[in-house]
Amino acid sequence: MKILQNLIGGVWEDPLYAVQLDLINPATEELIARYPAGSADDVDRAVDAADDAHAEWAALPVTERVEHLARWASAIDEHADELAELECQEMGKPIALGRSFIDGAVQGFRFAAEEAVQYPFVETIPAADGSSSTIVRHPLGATAVITPWNFPVPMVLGALGPLLAAGNTVVVKPSERSPLSTARLFELCTLPPGVANLVLGDSRAGAPLTAHRKIRLVHFTGSVQAGRRIGAETGSRLCRSVLELGGKDPVVVDAGVDPVATAQAVAFGAFVNTGQICTSMERIYVHRDIADAFIDALTDAASTFTFGDGHDAETVMGPMVDDRQRTIVHQHVTDALARGAHVRCGGQVPQGRGFFYPATVLTDVDDSMLVMTEETFGPIAPVVVVDSFEEGIERAGGSRFALGATVYTRDPAHAAAASAIPAGVTWINQWQGGGPERLYEPAGDSGMGATGARAAYDAATRPATIHTAAGLGSS
Ligand code: NAD
Repeated sequence: MKILQNLIGGVWEDPLYAVQLDLINPATEELIARYPAGSADDVDRAVDAADDAHAEWAALPVTERVEHLARWASAIDEHADELAELECQEMGKPIALGRSFIDGAVQGFRFAAEEAVQYPFVETIPAADGSSSTIVRHPLGATAVITPWNFPVPMVLGALGPLLAAGNTVVVKPSERSPLSTARLFELCTLPPGVANLVLGDSRAGAPLTAHRKIRLVHFTGSVQAGRRIGAETGSRLCRSVLELGGKDPVVVDAGVDPVATAQAVAFGAFVNTGQICTSMERIYVHRDIADAFIDALTDAASTFTFGDGHDAETVMGPMVDDRQRTIVHQHVTDALARGAHVRCGGQVPQGRGFFYPATVLTDVDDSMLVMTEETFGPIAPVVVVDSFEEGIERAGGSRFALGATVYTRDPAHAAAASAIPAGVTWINQWQGGGPERLYEPAGDSGMGATGARAAYDAATRPATIHTAAGLGSS
C-alpha cells in the first residue's frame, strides 16, 4: 500500500493532520493507499514556500521559465504510461484513454508555456501628443490550484502552464479521490524548490488554501456547490478566482443527418470516461423525423461500451469513481423512470465487485426530470424527441448550466443558429476539439473566468500602466 506525502518547498514530508483518508480502487474495491489529510498548518507552510519562491521565479527571463517547464514536460512524457496506470488504479480510467488524455495535456502544457514568449508582458503604446503608456503585466504571486478527480493529470497541467510561465508560484491540492497520479507528477517535477508545491487532502485542506491571505488567485475546477463557496470566500477578501464548474451539456440532432453515424458520435460523447466529463452530452434533443432510427442506433452503440477493469485491453468503459458517484447516477435514472421515462438499455446497478454502471439510454424523458436538470456525471443518454430544430435549440438553451453544447446538422442556417445556445463552446458536427487556442468563458452555474491560452495569461497577471509625458529624454 502506498504512503503519500506533501511536497513543500522542495521537500517531501508527512502531512501534520491526524485524519486518515483511504483510497479505494473503484474496479476492485481494494484499498490502495491511506494517507493523512492535509491541514491548515500544512497549507500555511506550503503557501509560505510558494510566497518565498515567487520573487526569484518571477525575476527569471520568461524564456528560462519556459525551459524549466519544458524539462518537466519531457519528464512527464517519459512517464506517461506510469501516470496512466496510476489514474486507472485510483479512478478506473482505461489505460489507453488515460494515456491519450495525458499526451494531449502535456502538449497543451507545452503550448501554453510557449505562449508566454509571445505574450506582451511589457508593451509600450505611444500617443499622438508624444507621451506614451507602458503596460506591464505582473505575475500575481502565490496562487492555488484545486482539481477534481475525473482527469487528474490533465486538470493539474491545464491550470499550471500559464500560471507558472507567467511567473506565479503555486500550491496544488488535487482531489482526495485521485491523489496518486498527481503525487507522481510532482515527483517528476524539476522546477526550483517552492515554485510548485503539493498539499494532499480534501476540503479540510482546500478551504484554508482558498482562504489564505497570501494566495492571490484561486484556480478551481470542480462542483458548483464547492465553486460557490470558493467564489464567496475569495470574493470576500478581493482575491481573483477562475471557477470551472459543472455542466449539463445539450446536443441537438437535426433532421437530415445520418442517424447511425450521429448516434455513434453521441454515444461517445455521452459514455466516454463513463460519462464523467464536464462537457459530456447529458441532454439529447433529436428531431422527430429521424428519432426512431437515431434511438435504435444509439442503443446499438451503447452496447459496444462494455464496462470492466481499465487494465483490461477489452474494456471500453471503466467504473464510476466511487459508490457515492454511482448512487447519484442511479438516483437520476430511478427518478426518470418513476416520472414516466423508459429505459432502452442499462439502468441497473450490476452485481459484483466494482462501482460499475452500464451505458444507459433513456427515452420519453422530459425537462423536469433530475436527469435533465442536474449534472449526472455518469454514462446516461437521456433522449427527448422535438418537433423542430428550433424547439431543440430553445430547449438546449433552457438550462442553468452553460458550459458546452453540440449541434449535428447539414443545414448551414441551422449551424449558424446554434450560437443562440448560451454555451462557452459550441461544437458543430463534432464533439470536443478546437485545440489549445480555443477561448471561452462558461456562464450560469458552470462558472466564471475565461479559459484559453491568452485569457489564461490575462487571468494570471495584473496589468499596470506607467504613463510618461512627452519630452522625457528629448533635450
Ligand atoms: P468537488 O467540488 O467535490 O471537488 C473538487 C475539488 O475541490 C477537490 O479537490 C476537493 O477536495 C475540493 N474542495 C471541495 N470542497 C472545497 C471547499 N469548500 N474549499 C476548497 N476546496 C474544496 O468536485 P468533484 O466531484 O471532485 O469533481 C466533479 C465536478 O467537477 C463536476 O461537477 C464536473 O463537472 C466538474 N468539472 C468541471 C470541469 C470544467 O472545466 N468546467 C472540468 C472537470 C470537472
